[in-house]
Amino acid sequence: MEEENNNVICPECGEPFEKHNIAELAEMTAAGITNQEFPNIWSKKKQELKQMSKKELAEEMYFAGAFDMFSSFHGMIEKIKEEQDKYL
Ligand SMILES: [Zn+2]
Repeated sequence: MEEENNNVICPECGEPFEKHNIAELAEMTAAGITNQEFPNIWSKKKQELKQMSKKELAEEMYFAGAFDMFSSFHGMIEKIKEEQDKYL
């Protein structure tokens, strides 16, 4: 397969990312971040989290998710910029 292909490939299915709709990408990204980051947060903050109310806990985890999502996007943007420099 020598066709010109600047598409980013999906590590899940090997197809170009553009074949996925936004909702699928959002779900995969969120699932990936959760699988990757939740064990860290849990082992680091277990004691703290166990003392929180359910509302505080939900808030704390939502914040952690939002924070990780931003960090992850920022990382992706840097990566995409690096990749683009090779082609432009
Ligand atoms: Zn895929």
